[in-house]
Amino acid sequence: MDLLATIVELSHQFGTSNYVRGGGGNTSAKDAHTLWVKPSGTVLARLRAEDFVAIDRSKLAPLYSTPTPAEPQAREALVKEMMAAAVSPASSGRPSVEAPLHDSLDAHFVVHTHPALVNGLTCAKNGKAAAEKLFPAALWIDYTDPGYTLCIKVRREIQSYQAQNGKQPEMILLENHGIFVAASCAIRISKLYEEVFTILRMEYKAAGVSVDFAEPKPLGDDKLSQAKELFSTAFSPQHSAFVAGAEKFTAAVGPISPDHIVYSKSYPFIGVPTKETVAAFVRQRGYEPAVVITDDAVYGLGSSQKSAQLALELAIDGAMVMRYANAFGGIQFMTDGARAFIENWEVESYRKKQVG
Ligand SMILES: [Zn+2]
Repeated sequence: MDLLATIVELSHQFGTSNYVRGGGGNTSAKDAHTLWVKPSGTVLARLRAEDFVAIDRSKLAPLYSTPTPAEPQAREALVKEMMAAAVSPASSGRPSVEAPLHDSLDAHFVVHTHPALVNGLTCAKNGKAAAEKLFPAALWIDYTDPGYTLCIKVRREIQSYQAQNGKQPEMILLENHGIFVAASCAIRISKLYEEVFTILRMEYKAAGVSVDFAEPKPLGDDKLSQAKELFSTAFSPQHSAFVAGAEKFTAAVGPISPDHIVYSKSYPFIGVPTKETVAAFVRQRGYEPAVVITDDAVYGLGSSQKSAQLALELAIDGAMVMRYANAFGGIQFMTDGARAFIENWEVESYRKKQVG
């Protein structure tokens, strides 16, 4: 079996907007010695075999036993250094921060994504209880800051799952984040995703939640240039240099998952932006918004066309998650602590720089 050819195919198959947006999600293949993982800051749908970062698995081992600093920045910096030391000299690129988590699963292939359909469950108030009922074989992970902390927590939970069940989980659901699927053949990965999607679609339907989310219509050029003109008077020039817009939809008004924060920021601006109202927003939140919700439209703002478009795309994705979550008690926003960790996360801003 050609491990790399298979993981490239899986990356493309699960790299569509049904599964991930922007640079979200990651994939890996492994044998006993080497882990090939998606580089940080790349897009699943465009991955080529030569892009994967080869990691010497024996050199990752110290990561699991070395005491790490409690302070998040220092901890992530040390872990980044240790991961870089494990990268094969022939590889370039920085491995995904979730590489140790991929390493902790024995299966040949791991496909991690953030589907709106699944996040309707993981980001819902009753998500955990519903997951236990609907997916009893899955491992549920309570919300944990991404990066090393998450990897170590999941590693421990995989070990205790294995002790209890005699095997590792094939599916891991991460609260307010997404899903990991692990299997040693591509067909099994697809089958597991299909099963999850089928079961969730049935649940949404039974709860009267429509799964046919019509993609909001992009705004016409006239409307967009009007908005741009207005925004240029209210926001700093670089921040609103590019604007993407869609007809009004019910966007989320709080932080849903790390990726939603990375691309769309935690809170949208609601209303008509003026110098004064934007200044008040910045005073309250500490940043200029990436998403603006007016009476009749939703806009993504950015310093490039791509980042403006991604801000809007993640707002649309968030709207889908919010709707689906109604089947499980409604949306559960992230806590202030969890949100602040992402807002200050260097690794994520690196990824956004690469992608957006
Ligand atoms: Zn993720």
